[in-house]
Amino acid sequence: MKKVIIVGAGTGGITVTARLINELNNEVEVTLVAPATSHFYQPLWTLVGAGVTTHEETEKSMKSVFPEGVKWIQQKVVTFNPEQNLITLDNNSSLSYDILIVAAGMQLDSHKIQGAIGALEYDNVCANYKTYGSTKTWKVLQNTTEENAVFTQPPMPIKCGGGPQKAVYLADDYFRQSWPPYFWH
Ligand SMILES: Cc1cc2nc3c(=O)[nH]c(=O)nc-3n(C[C@H](O)[C@H](O)[C@H](O)COP(=O)(O)OP(=O)(O)OC[C@H]3O[C@@H](n4cnc5c(N)ncnc54)[C@H](O)[C@@H]3O)c2cc1C
Repeated sequence: MKKVIIVGAGTGGITVTARLINELNNEVEVTLVAPATSHFYQPLWTLVGAGVTTHEETEKSMKSVFPEGVKWIQQKVVTFNPEQNLITLDNNSSLSYDILIVAAGMQLDSHKIQGAIGALEYDNVCANYKTYGSTKTWKVLQNTTEENAVFTQPPMPIKCGGGPQKAVYLADDYFRQSWPPYFWH
């Protein structure tokens, strides 16, 4: 049996785990290393921001999304040592592997955009990319009384290239349905 370690239990980590267990069950022993207790289905956050669904719908307990037969170590990986096929965890323990799959996702570096973190404190500024951020987006859309709404789309790499555009189209649809028709002439 090959020892496979998967780092991260987001969409990538869970999908690869399921494929390995379903297709190579007798050939691999899969261990997932993931610190979080919840798995978030992030593509739905755009729809949360448009009031189509709720943030709670996007959150599942880790155990409920794990395929049967996977071993879960609820720790964060702090160092990688590929020369020795080793990773070190938050609790100072080490794990060895034959194959390592890193699916730790992306880290948001909002502080690298000048003024972004301060701006997000305001009631009329929101971001769908943060966990629970899209709940605020829906409130902002509902409370908007101004005629100008500005949407931004950063260059890649970002979590979803289409995400910012979907937010625009959904907001446009909401405004058209909820603002009086004379506004659109
Ligand atoms: C608003 C929004 C809309 C989107 N819309 C779409 C869409 O319509 N279609 C689409 O295909 N994609 C969409 N995406 C993108 C999609 O959600 C991501 O591409 C996908 O979640 C990436 O999966 P991932 O497993 O790489 O990372 P994630 O799902 O972010 O998971 C990373 C995991 O790694 C764990 N982790 C992090 N660091 C460590 C560590 N050191 N040790 C152990 N574990 C660690 C985290 O806890 C997390 O569980 C959207 C994203 C957002 C935010």
